[in-house]
Amino acid sequence: MAADEIKCPKWKGKMEKGKILSPKSSKWVKGKPLTTLSVLKGEIIWTYRCSSCGYLESYA
Ligand SMILES: [Zn+2]
Repeated sequence: MAADEIKCPKWKGKMEKGKILSPKSSKWVKGKPLTTLSVLKGEIIWTYRCSSCGYLESYA
């Protein structure tokens, strides 16, 4: 799958790349991880949010 071409399954809308700060939080933040350390430790799971309906989908 091309990570840059993810479409919303509902509306085929554009999915914005971002992340959820922690597994216990539903807070979504657009853009890059806060720390590279988290990436190195494998703690970041990219989450894509639909700009149209707010649908969230996560990818390791
Ligand atoms: Zn959508």
